[in-house]
Amino acid sequence: MPGAEAMPTSRVLRDPVMSPTYGGGAFLQQCFSSHRLSLSLRKLVLPERVMLRCSACHLLHRLTVRSVATKRPTQTQTAEVPGTQSAADLLAQCSTAHQAALGVRDMDVSQDFVGLRCAECRRMYDLDVSAFETHQP
Ligand SMILES: [Zn+2]
Ligand SMILES: [Zn+2]
Repeated sequence: MPGAEAMPTSRVLRDPVMSPTYGGGAFLQQCFSSHRLSLSLRKLVLPERVMLRCSACHLLHRLTVRSVATKRPTQTQTAEVPGTQSAADLLAQCSTAHQAALGVRDMDVSQDFVGLRCAECRRMYDLDVSAFETHQP
């Protein structure tokens, strides 16, 4: 039997044009549990799109965000000036000014929760996520 290796497989698992997409947050949770430092913010399209990239497994995780909340752990207890900037605005500023400083600090996909942290301003962001998708580029 010549060229058994070269036989074209009838079942194409990977579409050559469209990269595979997986719904659900299992992949992201797995990345977070095994190598959370490899997750970084790839792209932010507010109000509802956040893209995380895993440099360890080269997966792209796309989140559909329902809402963004922010808090600043240090500083005084006096509330920040309300109403000036929304959490989404602040997150957008972080991603513009120092995107590399934004990392994933916590996550629980079963709770639709992803927590980001900006190492530059030490601000924490809580994302309420309505959908998780993972792309294999
Ligand atoms: Zn990963
Ligand atoms: Zn920041």
